[in-house]
Amino acid sequence: MHQVTDKKNLLGLPQGELESCFSEMGEKPFHARQVMRWIHQRGITDFEAMTDLSKSLRQRLIESARIELPQVLSQQESADGTVKWLFSSGSGQAIETVFIPEPDRGTLCISSQVGCALDCAFCATGAQGFNRNLAAAEIIGQVWRANQALPRRSNGDFAVTNVVFMGMGEPLANYRHILPAIDLLLSDLAYGLSRRRVTVSTSGIVPHIDRLGDECNVSLAVSLHAPNDALRDRLVPINKLHPIASLLEACWLYASKRANRFITFEYVMLRDVNDSLQHADELADLLDGKPAKVNLIPFNPFSGTEFRRSAADTIRHFQARLRQRGLVATTRRTRGDDIDAACGQLAGKVSDRVRKRLSEKTIRMASA
Ligand code: SAH
Ligand code: SF4
Repeated sequence: MHQVTDKKNLLGLPQGELESCFSEMGEKPFHARQVMRWIHQRGITDFEAMTDLSKSLRQRLIESARIELPQVLSQQESADGTVKWLFSSGSGQAIETVFIPEPDRGTLCISSQVGCALDCAFCATGAQGFNRNLAAAEIIGQVWRANQALPRRSNGDFAVTNVVFMGMGEPLANYRHILPAIDLLLSDLAYGLSRRRVTVSTSGIVPHIDRLGDECNVSLAVSLHAPNDALRDRLVPINKLHPIASLLEACWLYASKRANRFITFEYVMLRDVNDSLQHADELADLLDGKPAKVNLIPFNPFSGTEFRRSAADTIRHFQARLRQRGLVATTRRTRGDDIDAACGQLAGKVSDRVRKRLSEKTIRMASA
C-alpha cells in the first residue's frame, strides 16, 4: 500500500468523503455512489470498467485517483475450513485476517493495527509490540479481498456476513481509521451489514467506547479477562488507566444508547490464573442484572508464553457457575489453530517496533 503517488486512494472513503472528492473535482456527487457500488459490491477496481460513468469522467479518475488494495502474501486454509490471509502492510511487515465459516454465517476477523501497544500478557500480537495504525483502506481492503477470494453463499450473498475487529491491534486505539471502515461496512452502497453484524472488540479504552456509542453503536465486545483490578492490572495493563469500575460504567452507558443491546464480555481461560469458581462468582457479581453476555475463550498458546489453557472440565464448571448465577455464558470454539489462526495467535510480521513494554505514556499515545 505504499506506492509513491499523489493519486488519492478511493478504497477507504465512505460516502460523505467520496462525494466531497467528486464535488471538489466539479463532478456530481451521485457519481461517488456509482463508484462505491463498483468497488465494494462488484469488486471492480479498474476505472475503465465502470461503464455507467462517462468516458471523460473515467479518464479524469484514471489521471487523479487510484483504488489500491492490500497485497496478499499468503492464503492458508485450515482443516476446519477457516481461512487465514497474510497481507503486506509495507516495509516488510504484515497483518493477518481470518475467515470463520459457520452454517448460518461467515465471520471475518480483521486487523486494525500492525502489532499492538497494549501488551496484554497472554496475547501473541501484544508480545510483538506496535508498529503503526492501519489506514481505512487497509482495514476495509481485508473485507474486499476476502469477499473476492471466497465463493458466494448459496443465496448469492457475499461470503462475509459478519465482521469482528478481533484480529491484530486495538481498534479503539485507531479510532480515526476504523470509523470510515465501519461506515463502509454499514453502507447500503458498500457491504450493507447491520450494526448487529459488526463487532468492535476492545481491551477497554473508555473515552473511545463513549464516542463509538454516540457515533455508530455497532456491537461491542469487551476483553475483561479478570473480575478484579489487581488481576486485570496484570493481564490487561490498560486497566491501570481505565479500571474495571469506569470500564463497566462506559459499557452500561453504551448499551443504554440502543435499547436491549447486550455487551459481550470476553474472558480468556488461563489455567490457575483466572479460572476458579471464586473468579466466576466475582465475575457474576460484577455483571449481575446487567445487559451482559460472557464469552469464555480457551487460551490459545503461542511460542514463548508462560500461560496454559484451562482444563476442559474447569471451563465447563466455570461456565455452569455463571449460568447458575443467571448469566448468559458461552464458550468459544477454537477454530483454525492448526494454521495459527485462533484468537490471540495472530502475529503477522511486525518489525521496527516503536516500543515493546508498556508505560503510562505509551497507553496515552496509543489512545490518542
Ligand atoms: N485488541 C482487541 C481486539 C483483538 S484481540 C481486544 O483486546 O479486545 C481479540 C480477542 O482475543 C480479545 O478478547 C483478546 O483478549 C483475545 N486473545 C488475545 N490473546 C489470546 C490468546 N492467546 N488466546 C485466546 N484469546 C486471546
Ligand atoms: Fe492488543 Fe487486544 Fe492483544 Fe491486548 S489482547 S495486546 S489489546 S490485540
